[in-house]
Order: sequence, then C-alpha cells, then structure tokens
Amino acid sequence: MGELRSVRTRCPLCGHIFRAPRVGSYVTVGRETDLCPKFPGRQSDGTRLIRDAITMCPACSFSAAEDFSDLDLTVDERYDIEERLREDGLLKVFRASPPPWLAFHAAEVCGQERGLRFRELGDLCLRASWVCRKEREHPFESTFQLRALRYFIRALREEGLHGRELSLTTYLVGELNRRLGNHREALNWYVNAERTLGDELGRDAGLAWLDRLISEQSKLAREQAA
Ligand SMILES: [Zn+2]
Repeated sequence: MGELRSVRTRCPLCGHIFRAPRVGSYVTVGRETDLCPKFPGRQSDGTRLIRDAITMCPACSFSAAEDFSDLDLTVDERYDIEERLREDGLLKVFRASPPPWLAFHAAEVCGQERGLRFRELGDLCLRASWVCRKEREHPFESTFQLRALRYFIRALREEGLHGRELSLTTYLVGELNRRLGNHREALNWYVNAERTLGDELGRDAGLAWLDRLISEQSKLAREQAA
C-alpha cells in the first residue's frame, strides 16, 4: 500500500497544530469508468488513500487538498469560512464522528469561500462520491455525483477549459449523467466528448484510452436508454 507518514501541520484558520497523514506514492490497478482509481488489497485501504489527499483540521474542520503551509487566508476569507463551517448542516450532524467523505465536503465548503474554480470544486465532489461508493453509502454517492455534475457543467460553460481537461470533464458529465440514470443526456455528452477529443488526439496520443472508454460507455448508455 501507499507509504504513509504524518506531518506536523498548522491549521491556517484556527492555528491548531496536529499531525496529518500524508500519502506518498502508491500503486493502482486501473480505474473505474468514472476515473476512480482501483487499488490492490483491502477496500478500506483504498478509501484511506483517497481520503488522505485532503487535510482536515480536527479542531475547526477547515479542509483543503493543498498543503496547509501553502495557504494564506485573507481576513475576509477567514471570517466567511468560519461562518460557513459553523453553520453547515452536514458538518453539524457528522462532525463528532466524521465519515471518510466528510473531509471532501468540508473542502468544498472552504473551497467555495476561497474562490476555487468550479472544475476543482467538482473534482472534490467526484472524489467524495468515490469514497461513498467504496464505503457503500449509496444515497450520499448520488448526492455528490449530482454536485460534481453541476460544477463540471458550470466549469464547461464559464471556465474556458481546453485540451485534456476539456475532454475529460465533458466525458465525466456524460458518465455522471449515466450513473444518475439520465441515459439520453449521457449520450449527448459522450458525443460532445468525442468531438473535443477528435481535435486533441492528434496532439496527445496518450488519450487513446479515453476514446475507447467513450465508445464503450456510449454503447452501455444506448442499451440502458432502450
Ligand atoms: Zn482549524
């Protein structure tokens, strides 16, 4: 499994000092069709590796995918984040014994106040949905898939994505729609993804796997839509 060490960390929001796990390099054995990495060995180890990509302060719940020492919050951000973390419904319910997906939700809340791109907020929600699936928390899995989908659509509309990121995000909008049962919608997005990829494949031969994946998932969505 991934080499795991912990690092002394200072929360940029409340100043609490704690030891946070830090994931080193690890081995994966391919990806699921929503790009969730597959790990050899126990399911719970895989959950832990995905989960530990987020640092969460045990005192105030401030969370981020970035290294805490790289974060410098403005006074306004600090105030708004404290307020959001205090008032958040899911955090109120789950803070006392946090399930592994809670860190992603907290990172999403903090990320909104820090002005993260929609693409990045979507990625946090997508990763939360992976953890929920591995933990068999199906209603939460769908909730996070839907949130990821909405962020990705906003990113496509407003953030001028291009290249690999554009193709991957467009594919994911299709795949998340398919997983949420919107098969016809999914098919439209797979077509869009293929179109963006058509331009990109000439430049980036490393994306041939995505081309194959889009064909397979389109076939699946067509069967499911019938
Ligand atoms: Zn804190």
